[in-house]
Amino acid sequence: MKIGIIGAGLSGLALAQKLSKQGHTVTVFERDTQVGGLATYEDHGPFVFDRYYHVILPSDRYLLSFIREIGLADKLRWETTLTGFFVEEKMHSMSSTLEFLKFPPLSLWSKFRLATTILYCSRINDWKRLEKITVEDFLLRHSGRTTYEKMWKPLLLAKLGENYRRVSAVFIWTYIKRMFSARDSSASKEQMGHVHGGYKTVFDRLEQTIAAAGGRIALNTSVQRIAPAKGGSGVDIVTENRSEHFDKVIFTGPVNILQKVADDSLVAVEDSGHEVEYLGVLCMALVTRKPLTDFYILNIADRRIPFTGVVGMSNILDSDETAGTHLTYLPKYVLSTDAELRRPEDELQREFLDGLRLMFPDLKDEDIVSSRIHRAFKVQPLQVLNFSERIPKSATRHPDFFVHNTAQFVNNTLNNNEVIRAVEAFLEKHGDCFEPGDERSDDALVA
Ligand SMILES: Cc1cc2nc3c(=O)[nH]c(=O)nc-3n(C[C@H](O)[C@H](O)[C@H](O)COP(=O)(O)OP(=O)(O)OC[C@H]3O[C@@H](n4cnc5c(N)ncnc54)[C@H](O)[C@@H]3O)c2cc1C
Repeated sequence: MKIGIIGAGLSGLALAQKLSKQGHTVTVFERDTQVGGLATYEDHGPFVFDRYYHVILPSDRYLLSFIREIGLADKLRWETTLTGFFVEEKMHSMSSTLEFLKFPPLSLWSKFRLATTILYCSRINDWKRLEKITVEDFLLRHSGRTTYEKMWKPLLLAKLGENYRRVSAVFIWTYIKRMFSARDSSASKEQMGHVHGGYKTVFDRLEQTIAAAGGRIALNTSVQRIAPAKGGSGVDIVTENRSEHFDKVIFTGPVNILQKVADDSLVAVEDSGHEVEYLGVLCMALVTRKPLTDFYILNIADRRIPFTGVVGMSNILDSDETAGTHLTYLPKYVLSTDAELRRPEDELQREFLDGLRLMFPDLKDEDIVSSRIHRAFKVQPLQVLNFSERIPKSATRHPDFFVHNTAQFVNNTLNNNEVIRAVEAFLEKHGDCFEPGDERSDDALVA
């Protein structure tokens, strides 16, 4: 069967790899000049790194089994990581139970309330009721004002920017479920993993596997139109240069693009009457000669700092992955419509580096090898109150056209474990529509 897939992010490429393995011939269309979507990479010259910080958690079972399936188990690396808080101009480690008990900005009573909030959240099953209350009200109610201001608010700011005020309590519920699973239960230590060489290693393997199965990835090829084939079965994909016929087509991009490119006879996007707002991110990738911090993540409770967290990526990477230098990310989450996302690079650079010097006064100009601000406009939908009722639901109207995208995640944070879980659920649901050809093993494909 000839299958067309739109989008060469992890969703599109994982689908392509699995369908190739079933014996189908796959073409993936990607408008960008390289694969990877939000998980893509940057070529820095001496080394290649993920454009945005990515880690794997020990509980990411779908992602881990996919990494093993594509033969990259030997590239997995695990590190014990530290989490910190920058509060009242000081760094505090919060990486063990002991440090938690000692955390000076909180009284013992506040710590008790924090611990009970986490325990309470981890036991909630009915996430729907959490959609009705803002995350701020929920945390104030369960943890109290002091704990909220010193612990939760910096964390919300780090993850959502100022938009946290409109987000529902589902956000913190999913966050707690995911992050606390990163803790090793015996030692209460945080473990985080990555694939050696970053997501480029994963994408290289997927590209190799797809090509070995006779598939193709068309880069720099923006899909302009998707329409039912005239006078027969199948679907046509129209790009700037040509129109190509496929037996089946799967779209993996955002819903607003789906609405623009797909013919009405292929899909109905139900108008919920509400516009879905997206979070975007500004993220400085900073390469330095000296390490900046021992923490993997440093949450910030200081209004003077223009970014919302410090991610010490080098604490996870092997030193050969950054040619002996050190990689730190400084993210700032804003609404996709915010003018901040479009500000000139030099202005943002100055502001971010000035903020960084307030936190790390010893940082010298000569320690900085390079700094660059990357921008992603649509990272994930803002999970506002009653979000599950507000997302536009898309229903396909044609037997040969399918939609698979991450905007459909209503009770989960966007991460690659969820992407792979959703890819598997998709194939299980629609498996009958993709009659298998000659099944191929991955070993045979990359040999
Ligand atoms: C700052 C940041 C940090 C993150 N950290 C983590 C982490 O630590 N762990 C984790 O698991 N996940 C993390 N993620 C999330 C992860 O990156 C996403 O889950 C994943 O990349 C989503 O993949 P996708 O294929 O579904 O979507 P995308 O990556 O958005 O891919 C969609 C693709 O479709 C293409 N496309 C769209 N329209 C068209 C068209 N008309 N024609 C052709 N191509 C088109 C796009 O160019 C894009 O390449 C992070 C993301 C960000 C931004």
